Amino acid sequence: MNSYIQHLACSNCDATYPHTEPQNVCHLCGKPLFARYSLDQLKDNWKPDDLHTRPNSFWRYKELLPIQNDEDIVSLGETVTPLLNVNRLGAQLGLDNLWIKDESRLPTGSFKARGLAMAVSKAKALGIDKLAIPSAGNAATALSVYAAKAGIPAYIFMPKDTPAFNQKTCELAGANVTLIDGLITDAGKIVANRKINKGWFDVSTLKEPYRVEGKKTMGFELAEQCCWELPDVIIYPTGGGTGIVGMWKGFKELERIGWISKKRPRFISVQSSGCAPIVKAWEDGKSDAEPWQDADTIASGLRVPQAIGDFLILDAIRESNGAAISVSDGEIVDAMKLLPTTEGLLTCPEGAATVAALQPLLTDGLIGPSEKIVLFNTGGFQA
Ligand SMILES: *Cc1c(COP(=O)(O)O)cnc(C)c1O
Ligand SMILES: [Zn+2]
Repeated sequence: MNSYIQHLACSNCDATYPHTEPQNVCHLCGKPLFARYSLDQLKDNWKPDDLHTRPNSFWRYKELLPIQNDEDIVSLGETVTPLLNVNRLGAQLGLDNLWIKDESRLPTGSFKARGLAMAVSKAKALGIDKLAIPSAGNAATALSVYAAKAGIPAYIFMPKDTPAFNQKTCELAGANVTLIDGLITDAGKIVANRKINKGWFDVSTLKEPYRVEGKKTMGFELAEQCCWELPDVIIYPTGGGTGIVGMWKGFKELERIGWISKKRPRFISVQSSGCAPIVKAWEDGKSDAEPWQDADTIASGLRVPQAIGDFLILDAIRESNGAAISVSDGEIVDAMKLLPTTEGLLTCPEGAATVAALQPLLTDGLIGPSEKIVLFNTGGFQA
């Protein structure tokens, strides 16, 4: 037992909830719940040197993870993902210190593995016996394989034009798949309507408290890879926003236990111009986002017209002094070729969107030529 988890607390009001029972959103205000840890106690008991003997996976940070017993961990061999220097690409663009954290190395080929490994492990610990998810694609694949490994049935709802890779992998892993005529938000409504009758536990992003705990480990790994001194800028392809929200939360925890200083990267959120609710809200100076109409983009992970965590994403961007920017699908397609030809790195469209954003960000003065910039390639190329 090494987890310092204390309870769950609402991200918006003062309500708290026990983490020892299944929880979704706040009963009072309907907003996401966050796991809270005994950070003052942890500060005295845990030092970076303690990591030396830990496994090469995000489970190495178990003090700040919500799983209390090792037997509950459902793992498919998650590895710490490499932080790669991409100086050939950087030189082409006039950037001296450009890096990519390559999340395609995780099980199922995307960073969705982090969140679903955590959610399924916690579900196992709590004795939950049916899991349901609305997904734009990769979360469905990740849930299917982790649920299969845990022996828990999974019910998947996703758009009928979700990439074939996601549809096939869910079926191969024995999940119950329903393809719907609509988007992830419509799939979410179906799960919400049926879950009580069916006895399903809803693992929608940020309507379940632990996927974000898995995603925050991207920030822990990055901090450790940068010797506990964070980069100047993080550029991140944003859909539901769990990655930005998770890393922002994780950085605050690391500062509270004294492992990093106050210095934070500026978060730059990238979306496709075919579905850019966060960019629109950012440009309009709003603290939450309007649902996007007729969302359409080849980057299926960014095809999220409305996110329950919109206010948390916008807070992180604002507090970090960051920005939000959209790129077109055409620019994404070009970037999918630029990265492999200069760096030999194959990416998903979402990861390529961060590459496509570099030139406009540089032109607008939102990033500087010698700043340390980290892009997130959130998944691998799928034919
Ligand atoms: C889900 C997904 C995203 C969006 O991630 P969030 O953390 O939910 O914003 C980006 N890229 C890929 C490949 C995804 O599957
Ligand atoms: Zn609340």
